[in-house]
Amino acid sequence: MTIESLPNFTPPARQRWESIPAEIRQRLLSNVWCGHCRHETTITNFSGTIKNGDLLLVGACAECHGEVARVIEGK
Ligand SMILES: [Zn+2]
Repeated sequence: MTIESLPNFTPPARQRWESIPAEIRQRLLSNVWCGHCRHETTITNFSGTIKNGDLLLVGACAECHGEVARVIEGK
């Protein structure tokens, strides 16, 4: 999936995500820590929600397909 197709984002989460420059978004997606692989990985099939004012991405590790998550703190 590309970062431009976001079927699993809530509208506020999508708005927050789209306010982030594309190259930073790409970096955020490609250095997610996977507790199963024990190294940084790429998050795939992710969904986005706003939780406690932060953008929360939850998806699957590109390597082991275990669940990984990234919190992007709100301003
Ligand atoms: Zn993994």
